[in-house]
Amino acid sequence: MLRKVLVANRGEIAVRVLQSLREVGIPSVAVYSDPDRQALHARLADESHRLEGASAAETYLNADRLVEVARECGAEAVHPGYGFLSENAEFAAKLEAAGIRLIGPSSQVIAAMGDKVTAKQVMEEAGVPVVPGWTGDVSALAEARRAAEGLGYPILVKAAAGGGGRGMRRVDTPAGLEAAIADARSEAEKSFGDGRVFLEKYLERPRHVEVQIFGDRHGAAVHLFERECSVQRRHQKIIEESPSPALDPDLRARMGEAAVRAAQALGYENAGTVEFILDAQRNFYFLEVNTRLQVEHPVTELVTGLDLVRAQFAIAAGQPLPFRQEELKQEGHALECRVYAEDPSRGYLPSTGRIQVYRAPAGPGIRVDSGVEEGSEVTIHYDPLLAKLIVWAEDRPSALARMDLALSRFVILGVRTNIPFLRNLIRHPSFATGDLHTHFLDEHAIAPAPPGVLQEALLVAGWAATERPTVAAGNRPSRSGAGARPSPWLEAGNWRLA
Ligand code: ADP
Ligand code: ADP
Ligand code: MG
Repeated sequence: MLRKVLVANRGEIAVRVLQSLREVGIPSVAVYSDPDRQALHARLADESHRLEGASAAETYLNADRLVEVARECGAEAVHPGYGFLSENAEFAAKLEAAGIRLIGPSSQVIAAMGDKVTAKQVMEEAGVPVVPGWTGDVSALAEARRAAEGLGYPILVKAAAGGGGRGMRRVDTPAGLEAAIADARSEAEKSFGDGRVFLEKYLERPRHVEVQIFGDRHGAAVHLFERECSVQRRHQKIIEESPSPALDPDLRARMGEAAVRAAQALGYENAGTVEFILDAQRNFYFLEVNTRLQVEHPVTELVTGLDLVRAQFAIAAGQPLPFRQEELKQEGHALECRVYAEDPSRGYLPSTGRIQVYRAPAGPGIRVDSGVEEGSEVTIHYDPLLAKLIVWAEDRPSALARMDLALSRFVILGVRTNIPFLRNLIRHPSFATGDLHTHFLDEHAIAPAPPGVLQEALLVAGWAATERPTVAAGNRPSRSGAGARPSPWLEAGNWRLA
């Protein structure tokens, strides 16, 4: 096993990784920025080191500083989580040079997959279907126009270095092409320091279906089935699930095989995700490989019964894959909702402040991966993802009912969250029938939430009524109607409620 692991991240994913480190008994190291001095992740590790500053650039994106901390504390490996430096080939190369292992694939694989143009070429050669596109020089506008006509509008201008949904522009008519290229280029230049763009056929109402892969140093590769992540806002996933309601066993097997072929073509080591886009005719096309653990990995954990982070540690330590393809099973149905500090009724404006009340739901089949607790400060410096609510049940309708219940019991006060919006979303009839596509939120007007003050008052009232019974209340007719029996626990006396 690994001797010591540094977690180069924050929030819920750092907490998640630290928990598995503790379970397997690997000494853990956290890093924290100045605003994160009191953060949950900084307190859960065996040792924590300060990254001076507040901005992401000064702290969690500061590759040199992170390598220095890893070296000083004697970490054998670094877990990068997702976001930040997780897909940064230079960071991976710096760690390699310092003799520290990245829990992920090699810097060469990260670099190759970080470039969408290279990635598409590799996949095409490996026989994996890719979205029809054109990767010529877009500054030769006449050629770009001809290529776009050839693909047929609408098309998508896409950044080669893209990620997080940035650097993409849809073009519906030839008249819009030049401006879209200029826009995508400048956004890509700003976000990634790399303005290269290419053209892709734009698929209408597609589904986003991705396959979890794992490979080891000894040449073995498997897939852990699919996740559907079609419900997106600005190309960012909001709800994820497994299995995908769109797949049958045959299509699932073909997509799984294509993903394994991709892993083998790359000599892929550790966890990764092959993203596909699925059109209305059920053709699937390669989108990209995410060379890291994905935000939505818990849905795969719940349907396979595996701890993907533990598997990552084993593979990074040089062990063979802990599972063979024939042994893997996809059982029941899992759903994940991303809980953000944002206000859907005000254009999804990020919401900051102190979390005054935090009550996470619990119960059979309910999992909450959270980076916050009561008293946590939510700042403007980082991603507004607070927590992920994941549920498992025998089938999709039961999982939806369970998610509905769990959302109704999730109380976060002090910052605005998208919880009421998520609840309206999963209750939508088209969500229930599984008729999902990447424009779901454009086509269906999902109510953001009841007005703020009312909503909070209701939450507090509901919380007080359901969660804080008193002995005195138990002696009166209960909420459920006159004459109802008091809770049997109340008869046990005061000590029960202490
Ligand atoms: P996943 O594919 O795991 O769902 P996302 O694409 O939603 O991941 O990205 C995960 C996190 O990483 C998000 O917070 C996103 O904003 C951030 N992210 C993704 N790509 C980049 C990038 N190239 N640069 C900076 N942040 C990124
Ligand atoms: P990123 O690296 O930013 O995650 P992706 O290539 O994975 O970029 O695409 C993100 C999302 O954008 C997809 O999930 C899908 O919703 C949309 N998208 C990407 N390519 C296409 C396409 N050719 N046609 C339609 N939608 C697309
Ligand atoms: Mg993507």
